[in-house]
Amino acid sequence: MLSIPGVARDQVWYEQPPFYNQPNLKYMVCPIRKSGFQDLAFLVPKDGPVGLIPKTMVFVNKIEDAIRLERYLRSRLPDRVRNGKQAFVIIQLITSNLDANTKTRVMEDLRYGNTRICVCTECAGMGINIPDIMRAVQFKIPDFIALPELLQRLGRGGRDKSCAAIAMVFVHPSQVLPDDVHMLEQSAFKNLRLPVSRENREQITDVIAQLYKNKLQSAKKTGNAYERTDPGILWFLNTSGCRRQLILACFMCKKAFKPFPDLADCCDNCMYNHTDAGQVPDFELHDVTARLAMMYKRTLEYSKLQISAERNRLRATNPRNPRTIAKQALACEKALDSFARQRWPDHSLADIKFLSDWRKRLAKVAIRITTVEQLHKELLLACHLRFSSLEACAQELVDIITSTALANSPNPPSP
Ligand SMILES: [Zn+2]
Repeated sequence: MLSIPGVARDQVWYEQPPFYNQPNLKYMVCPIRKSGFQDLAFLVPKDGPVGLIPKTMVFVNKIEDAIRLERYLRSRLPDRVRNGKQAFVIIQLITSNLDANTKTRVMEDLRYGNTRICVCTECAGMGINIPDIMRAVQFKIPDFIALPELLQRLGRGGRDKSCAAIAMVFVHPSQVLPDDVHMLEQSAFKNLRLPVSRENREQITDVIAQLYKNKLQSAKKTGNAYERTDPGILWFLNTSGCRRQLILACFMCKKAFKPFPDLADCCDNCMYNHTDAGQVPDFELHDVTARLAMMYKRTLEYSKLQISAERNRLRATNPRNPRTIAKQALACEKALDSFARQRWPDHSLADIKFLSDWRKRLAKVAIRITTVEQLHKELLLACHLRFSSLEACAQELVDIITSTALANSPNPPSP
C-alpha cells in the first residue's frame, strides 16, 4: 500500500530523498487537445525504422482503453509492418486479465527491444524494472490515482539513471487551471499554481499541511474535476515551479528547497523558467530540448514585446495625449526591431519565418487572441512532440502561430 505524501505525517522534513527522486526523468504535463488517442500519435512516427521507436510504456486506466490504444498505435505503423506478425510484437499490451506467463513473455520482449511500446493498465506499474524505457506516459488521470501511484507509473521511465527519459502526463483540460488570469483569480484552486522555492518555504509547509484536509472532508465522488482529483496530483499538474522540487516537497524532503541549477531542462516548467540565451545545460537531452527551450523562450519574449508594442499603438489612438503616446509606440516598435535583430543575428533562428511582414502581422493577430500562457503551451508541446530537427520545429512554431491567426482572422490574407 502506498502512503499518502508527507501531508498525512507529522510535518517533519527529511534529509533522505524519496524513492521517486529521479533526476534523469523529465516531467511534462500536456493538456489533451484532440479526440480519442490522437494526442498520442507521436509515439509511432510516420516513417523511419520501427526498431528506433524509443522504448515506451503508456499507462491507461481501463482494459478497454488499453485495447483501443494498442489498436490505434498499431494502425499507425508503416504499411510494410502493420499487417505482418511483427506488428503484434512491436506494440503489446499488459493488462490484469493476462496470465502470468503471457505477462512475463511481453516483459521479456520489451526488455530485449522486440517490443517498442507497451500499453499497460495499473497492474504493470509495480515491479517492472527495465532500465532503458525512454518514455513513460500516463494518459488521463482518473479519480482513484494518488500522487505516489502516478509517480510509480512514470518512474518506469529512466530506471538507468545514466540516460535521460521523458515522463509525460496527458490530462483533461478541466484538470489544469484556466490560462485566463481573471478566471484564475476566481478559482478556489489558484493556490495550486504555487511554485516550491526557498523563498516560500513557510508557505509551502502550510500548503502541504492543508492540501489533503479539504479533500478528506469533502465527499469523494462529487463536485467538479478538481475536487475529484488527488490534491497532490492537482498541485503537480498546475504548479508554475519545478515539478521535481514539488514532488520532493510533497514527500517532506529538505532537498525540495535546493533548486537544480545544473538541470535547466529537468521539467517543462524549468525549461521555461531557467533556460535563457547562451545557457545550454550540459545534459543528455541538451541538444534537442535545451535548444528548443531557448528558441521557445525567445519566441515568447518576442511575442511579449509585440504585445506591448501593440498595446501602445492602440493607446496612441487615444486623443488625450497623442504626441507622447505616439512617441512611446515608436520607441516600442524600435525596441522590437532591435530585439529581433539582436536575438537572431546569424543564429539558426535568424530566418524564423514569422519575421517576414505578412507572417508578423498574422502573429500579432494570433497574439492578441491568445493569452501568452496558451501560446507557451502550444509552443512547448510542439517543441517536444515533433523534434525531428530544429528547422522542423522552427517551421512548426510558425505554422502554429499562423494557423491560429488564420482561423481567427476575419479576412485571411493570401500567402
Ligand atoms: Zn524542474
